[in-house]
Amino acid sequence: MKITACNALLCIATLAFAAPVAADDLVVYSARNEQLIKPLFDAYTRDTGIKIKFVTDKEGALLQRLKAEGPNTPADMLLTVDAGNLWEAAKEGSLKPVQSKVLINNIPAHLRDPGNQWFGLSVRARTIFYNNLKVKPSELSTYEDLGSAKWKGRLCLRTSKKVYNQSLVAMMIAEHGEAKTEQIVKSWIANLATDPHSDDTKMLEAIAAGQCDVGIANTYYFGRLMEKKPGLPLGIFWPNQKNSGVHVNVSGAGITKYAKHEKEAIRLLEWLSSDNAQNLFADVNLEYPVNPAVKADPVVVAWGAFKQNMVNVAKAGELQASAVKLMDRAGYK
Ligand code: FE
Repeated sequence: MKITACNALLCIATLAFAAPVAADDLVVYSARNEQLIKPLFDAYTRDTGIKIKFVTDKEGALLQRLKAEGPNTPADMLLTVDAGNLWEAAKEGSLKPVQSKVLINNIPAHLRDPGNQWFGLSVRARTIFYNNLKVKPSELSTYEDLGSAKWKGRLCLRTSKKVYNQSLVAMMIAEHGEAKTEQIVKSWIANLATDPHSDDTKMLEAIAAGQCDVGIANTYYFGRLMEKKPGLPLGIFWPNQKNSGVHVNVSGAGITKYAKHEKEAIRLLEWLSSDNAQNLFADVNLEYPVNPAVKADPVVVAWGAFKQNMVNVAKAGELQASAVKLMDRAGYK
């Protein structure tokens, strides 16, 4: 007989039996897809014999859980995307500072917390994409310029609800101040061809389909889409090369405040920043290694070199609440 249902207690018992957590297993709360993370952790276990148990969920749920569990949390490490989320975890008191020369050496200063509570492990660039049948790269220059009259009815954006855009606008506030940033965001909204899109891929497809001509997205969405549909008329452009540089963000990790295996968790974090792991970590999602000594995947290298914004990504967290309010005032849905 095939068992198609079970009562809650039995299911829990079965799960616990199937995946026992030994007292010395490292526990990672991960907001990154299991398929991205598992090969990496498997490699670490092969190298060191240390087993890693990971719990995958959305970043908001994991942050809540860490807070609610407090000293009872089984988690040793939090792994998530966006400096805004990492900053939030630190602000909530869920992480602890780590003193590590290895991490300081492997990770550029602007891509880790100045208070050493979280560390970037991969870099994502949020840049400009264009329909290369309708736009010449020479017509493009900066994020700010996407609000100029020539892009009227030609711009696509992803929703302001996504933390990636909140971080982008927060970093613009850090650079320009609130008043000027609000003007810029309003000028983008005035140029929109359609309502904001629910995700970066749909927005890129709208550009390719000619519904709009330009937009802002993370590079790895472009990489994934072009691998599936190599013929799409999409070009990548690196803006702000004469001033502040391209907006970058990180995926990263921190050690939890109540880690039961602090030393081992720091060793895992150091390993994740090393040459051994950086390619595995970055290439699987077509991101950039955070460690400057490690080369990106050839697909990523082919997009060309660019100057990145060197302002510490912690600003994306500090100014996130201001960015959300500003986007609301500007009518950015
Ligand atoms: Fe993403």
